[in-house]
Amino acid sequence: MDLRYTDAESAFRGELRRWLADTLPGLPAKPPPGDWPGRRAYDTHWQRLLFDAGYAGVDWPVEGGGRGSTAVEELIFKEELERAHAPYVGVNFVGLLHAGPTIVAEGTPEQRQRYLPPILRGDEVWCQGFSEPDAGSDLASMRTRAVRDGDHYLVSGSKIWTSHAEVADYCELLVRTGAEDSRHRGISWLILPMDAPGVEIRPLTTIAGSTEFAELFLDEVQVPVSNRVGEENDGWRVTMVTLSFERGTAFVGDLLEAREVLSATVALARRTGAWSDPSVRRRAGHLLAELDALWALTRRNVSQAARTGVPGIGGTLFKLAYTEARTELGEFSLSLLGRAGLAADELEGTDGLGPLPTATMVEDWLRGISLTIAAGTSQIQRNIVGERILGLPKEPAATLSPTPAK
Ligand SMILES: Cc1cc2nc3c(=O)[nH]c(=O)nc-3n(C[C@H](O)[C@H](O)[C@H](O)COP(=O)(O)OP(=O)(O)OC[C@H]3O[C@@H](n4cnc5c(N)ncnc54)[C@H](O)[C@@H]3O)c2cc1C
Repeated sequence: MDLRYTDAESAFRGELRRWLADTLPGLPAKPPPGDWPGRRAYDTHWQRLLFDAGYAGVDWPVEGGGRGSTAVEELIFKEELERAHAPYVGVNFVGLLHAGPTIVAEGTPEQRQRYLPPILRGDEVWCQGFSEPDAGSDLASMRTRAVRDGDHYLVSGSKIWTSHAEVADYCELLVRTGAEDSRHRGISWLILPMDAPGVEIRPLTTIAGSTEFAELFLDEVQVPVSNRVGEENDGWRVTMVTLSFERGTAFVGDLLEAREVLSATVALARRTGAWSDPSVRRRAGHLLAELDALWALTRRNVSQAARTGVPGIGGTLFKLAYTEARTELGEFSLSLLGRAGLAADELEGTDGLGPLPTATMVEDWLRGISLTIAAGTSQIQRNIVGERILGLPKEPAATLSPTPAK
């Protein structure tokens, strides 16, 4: 193993760093958190800049319209963007991080040609319609039904927790095409146009006060059969590909952001004097070591994805460990804020401490909790680790789902 960067990799880093230094100062101001149309415009503008500069889809293969970079270049790309405080994928995380990669891996040539370039150019935004009111962890019990009607499906049912549905053009939608009790054997993966007649979107508000979620109600929505990715009733296998991207490589930008949150927390501890307490320094040290170990795991997952096309089971380990470390980080920050952590606005510290990052840290803490639920809860990831990695006996089917996936 040679851990040094090659000349070509160093050149890639240098060019990217220069491009970021030239481009970032010209970006418009970031819209306020609740302005979703504004955030869509901001995020897709950034994506277009990446596309025009040849940096869109660095990790996507050339035949998928991406740059076809090596795993090392992909990691350099993510590191440099974080270092320069560049925008993250934002509202199109589904399109860029898991629906697009699923179509690269499983789509037909026509589907790749139709759907991948607009994602990379920032023209089209995607959301994910997997969870239902009675099918979250036990995703295989989902009931949204698609009935074949000539060269269309008629889709009826409802989805919940659909992030950014309000600003999405397409949805990666799971539907039941098999018998009612067919569980994971009767699911298909469809591309749903969000403007199709019969699609109703009702926004939901998160604990942090943002309407980033929605409920989707589908009433006999016509979806062409040609919008199916994979075979009819083989959608569970396609879903596993989607989830391995969602859990495996989709959180990488987040991990780099967590390092920044830790630096801000350490800076806060120094300002308040808490840093003189050895237990505070020990907690910071543990978290730093944890984030470093997760970065090593990320490298492993990214290399595996580069070799095999999908990140595989390493994504489950990463998702579990990262989201729990992120929650611990949120709790560490809040403990340093003390009573000031009860505020949801930025506060002025007492005794000449200056402004405290209360609003940011409280929001980050709340977000950390949601990350242990999104894309499959920690308990479900532990089940997967137990059953698929350690080979422990499966859960009893009568009481709990035999195939918990999300
Ligand atoms: C921020 C965020 C964004 C999301 N975005 C989307 C999205 O865009 N699209 C989408 O489709 N979904 C999305 N979700 C939904 C998410 O996938 C589900 O919330 C998650 O899978 C859990 O399902 P549930 O909420 O129905 O909880 P439940 O499945 O009802 O679980 C309740 C509790 O029981 C535990 N539990 C359930 N089954 C088992 C078991 N077999 N063993 C042990 N414990 C178990 C769970 O761990 C949990 O603690 C999002 C969620 C969040 C928080």
